[in-house]
Amino acid sequence: MLQLRPGCECCDRDLPADSTEAYICTYECTFCRDCTELTLKGVCPNCGGELVPRPRRPPGMLARHPASTQRIFKPEGCKG
Ligand SMILES: [Zn+2]
Ligand SMILES: [Zn+2]
Repeated sequence: MLQLRPGCECCDRDLPADSTEAYICTYECTFCRDCTELTLKGVCPNCGGELVPRPRRPPGMLARHPASTQRIFKPEGCKG
């Protein structure tokens, strides 16, 4: 199950579970659309894998399986 992390690792922008701006890699490193497209060019800076749009969890399922609240912020990896 996806953790649905709450923010972008590069710029710490909020990325709620229903956001269409969230991108993840296979390890679920999480970034906003701006950082993914402009800075990272679609490649995860942590693992080198591709970044793809994060699927949204339907609200009913989100109530049963809430999104992660653990914020990860690692701007040093995001110089581009
Ligand atoms: Zn960002
Ligand atoms: Zn990654």
